[in-house]
Amino acid sequence: MVKAIVGANWGDEGKGKITDMLAEKSDIIVRFQGGSNAGHTIINDYGKFALHILPSGVFYGHTTSIIGNGVALNIPYLINEIKDLVSKGVPEPKILVSDRAQILMPYHILFDQYEEERLGKKSFGSTKSGIAPFYSDKYAKIGFQVSELFDDEEALKEKVYRIMETKNVLVEHLYHKEKIDPEEIFKTLLDYRDMIRPYVCDTSAYLHEAIKEGKNILLEGQLGSLKDPDFGIYPMVTSSSTLASYGAIGAGIPGYEIKDIVTVVKAYSSAVGAGEFVSEIFGDEADELRRRGGDGGEYGATTGRPRRMGWFDAVASRYGCRMQGATEVALTVLDVLGYLDEIPICIGYEIDGKVTRDFPTTHLLKKAKPVYKVMPGWKEEIRGIKEYDKLPQKCRDYIEFIEKELEVPITMVSNGPGRHEIIYRK
Ligand code: GDP
Repeated sequence: MVKAIVGANWGDEGKGKITDMLAEKSDIIVRFQGGSNAGHTIINDYGKFALHILPSGVFYGHTTSIIGNGVALNIPYLINEIKDLVSKGVPEPKILVSDRAQILMPYHILFDQYEEERLGKKSFGSTKSGIAPFYSDKYAKIGFQVSELFDDEEALKEKVYRIMETKNVLVEHLYHKEKIDPEEIFKTLLDYRDMIRPYVCDTSAYLHEAIKEGKNILLEGQLGSLKDPDFGIYPMVTSSSTLASYGAIGAGIPGYEIKDIVTVVKAYSSAVGAGEFVSEIFGDEADELRRRGGDGGEYGATTGRPRRMGWFDAVASRYGCRMQGATEVALTVLDVLGYLDEIPICIGYEIDGKVTRDFPTTHLLKKAKPVYKVMPGWKEEIRGIKEYDKLPQKCRDYIEFIEKELEVPITMVSNGPGRHEIIYRK
């Protein structure tokens, strides 16, 4: 059975923790999109880890972790992440990398930096991991597939020289930087070949067999619905689809095999980078939520940047669940809100004097003002509680109000960052 774990918001919903938890009962965990640009924070018996490219199931001896064809594969980054885990006592994970995954090239990172620099105040707030240049090249058909590393060396060299010709025009005349040596790039690719060789596999065929054998497979999404290039807050989005449906393509399996779409929704809002964020809060109110948020504060797992903070946005989250095709919701970081006397929930957007419950396109979103319903806080520590009925009544009211707004059952409530801090509600 194939299950997807994806985010309904702007990312950082706590998908890593939920995947790590569900991985215990899974055979295979697959990353299907994105690259090393976002991070999952996972706390388990081995310690605290920020994973950027490895799937969140790497801590279990019985699981196979797959980097699917849809991923932006930064090879040295992947190898370092594996080494780092092993050096901290985690058993060597079983990892397979799709032979159809494309390689994130050193110049993708440079172009990401150069372009953000060129845009100055109009920059995207990119993590500068090379993701946008990578996907641009993939769809412009000038990317490098892992399989090409194992093809004829001369053909590879010829392609590198051909592509660097156009890249260097931009480097020289648009960015005014030092030209990139194609020979260096070619040599780097040969190094990458040696690094990645032990992991390369036809992962789509592997998954086809695994599905036939009835294995439990998890597809692990990165970021959330609102960062999807089609349905998110374009252009302040990421460059690959963050939706469960894309999981089928990015893993190489039929769409109809995805039976369960666990959508992770955060009990308040946070976002990194620029872009529309209707229920955003500022000043002391935001600082306090940021400081108390997540595990040790709301700061980017990859960049350490302070995240932008806001109240729960029912309009955005309902839309986020719908675009994911959510079959169930995991509501996370609820414990953080225990300090508040009152908790606002954004239930509508006022746009040009009219209130809507539908999430609009970006140009309307820019004008949207939040309409709040204020719920009473429960003013209690809820960490350590294991049963839903033991939660304070006001806390249950908050959960049940959100569930009604989302129109999807909340089956899990996460009340702490640890693997076992979860309340099931089936
Ligand atoms: P992801 O990218 O969706 O996996 O999210 P991140 O890992 O970037 O952010 C989630 C943060 O919240 C991490 O620091 C988690 O350890 C933490 N976290 C996850 N679930 C909970 C929870 O229920 N309560 C608290 N306090 N922290 C949580």
